[in-house]
Amino acid sequence: MSSDPPTLPFLMCAGGAVHPKPGAWAQGDRVFHTLIDPRTAKPWARFPAADRADVTAAIAAAKAAQTLDWTAAVRMDRLGMLERLIQGIEARRTEFATLICAEIGAPADFAESKHVGTAVAHLRAILDAAKGSSDDIAPAPDQPQHRIRYEPLGLALLITPWNWPLNQLALKVGAALVAGCSMILKPSELAPATALLLADCMVEAGVPKDMFAVVLGDGTVGAQLAAHPDIDVISFTGSTAVGREVARSAATHFTRTNLELGGKSPNLLFADCILPLAVEQGIAHAFRNGGQSCNAASRMLVETSIYDQVVTLAAQIADRFTPAPLVSQTQFDRVQGHIQAALAKGARLIAGGLGHAPGTTGFTPRPTVFADVTPQMALAQDEVFGPVLAISPFQDETDAIAQANATDYGLAAYIQTGDPARAARVARQLNVGMVQINGSSRAPGAPFGGRKQSGWGREAGLWGIRAFQDIKSVSGLG
Ligand code: NAD
Repeated sequence: MSSDPPTLPFLMCAGGAVHPKPGAWAQGDRVFHTLIDPRTAKPWARFPAADRADVTAAIAAAKAAQTLDWTAAVRMDRLGMLERLIQGIEARRTEFATLICAEIGAPADFAESKHVGTAVAHLRAILDAAKGSSDDIAPAPDQPQHRIRYEPLGLALLITPWNWPLNQLALKVGAALVAGCSMILKPSELAPATALLLADCMVEAGVPKDMFAVVLGDGTVGAQLAAHPDIDVISFTGSTAVGREVARSAATHFTRTNLELGGKSPNLLFADCILPLAVEQGIAHAFRNGGQSCNAASRMLVETSIYDQVVTLAAQIADRFTPAPLVSQTQFDRVQGHIQAALAKGARLIAGGLGHAPGTTGFTPRPTVFADVTPQMALAQDEVFGPVLAISPFQDETDAIAQANATDYGLAAYIQTGDPARAARVARQLNVGMVQINGSSRAPGAPFGGRKQSGWGREAGLWGIRAFQDIKSVSGLG
């Protein structure tokens, strides 16, 4: 009896829409990827990667599908498709959650409430933004002969990471659909199953054949797609290193790019913040999803007068935090390397440390906290993408802002203070794309994205839609 894991029952269609095509992959020399369940370290499925001919065929079909009928005449139809897509995802909430658990090891309740829930919330916000806006507006209300039109950029390439398998897809697919682009989605090779289930939902929502295709594979496939001259816009979410490659490749054809990259987000705790709540929330924001979130609050900067108290609290809270698996052995090893390096540089370990969390299987590290991390240490600068928090002291507001801004990243920042004037003042001076104060969440549809090496462009709400459109000025009456 073969011990091979099952091949995923749903497969990408090289020519456009997604169909189950069992057998189509039986021949040929395709590269197969094996999916490993991070909770058990055991294989659970495998899938065939697209080859160069598939990439060419998928691009040709999606390019040909871009017609004026689709892009201009049927905006209302596209909004209807998005409504049905949301309904379809909600109807399959548990199916999505089950796949997300197997792909990245997320706990079941978190997968359903947060992973699926956040994706649906983003799609609703995109739909609301579309309903509340127009793609054809008059810049001066008293001169109707001048119009500004938002038109689809064309064929959109959507490249996504594994860490929020449905959410990252939803942000791109919802916006590109409403904007009027045809789409090729290249999901992470670690999370292809969620993308294929989403493709089923797209078909059920009535998205026309060839307007949307999923192309499976790793970075080789991503690079082939990104370099293709027929791609009009690339929306990429992933690491800064790969984002740089994508931007370089896109520059050859002046392909538009939207880059959502890494982060090393600071959480500033001023002496007048509410303790222990601020530490409790700070740890949760650093460790949730296994610390595998681009906007994880991975640096805690603390005013000196409350520093010792915060360090003690952080150690206690981290010790009782429920550990979660990382996505892969590679990611586990990378995180261990960061912990090892921090120890070697003399950071003070106050919780967790090297090795697996006791009593766990799979790729589960120990939730780890270091204190006395200096700005020069790699732990203060590099994205770990795991449950490792760096705590550092600051002297005053000026020092806090300087330390917060002293990394290559500029994605998110968090401020904890009882002084609203200070919160507003500090928020203005942080060189990031998003600031959250005293534990508040971002508003639905609020723009998501960063500065510096965290990328450029914004996703979510109306900003996400506009990222897939270009502006045309039309003057004079026809
Ligand atoms: P990654 O950069 O390794 O891969 C991302 C995607 O790019 C995958 O689909 C991968 O197959 C593809 N890819 C790899 N090499 C490529 C190439 N040369 N050309 C084109 N595509 C290529 O990232 P990851 O490990 O999947 O995800 C983790 C990273 O994503 C972290 O750095 C995290 O901060 C970042 N991220 C950012 C945001 C954000 O909104 N800013 C959100 C989530 C994750």
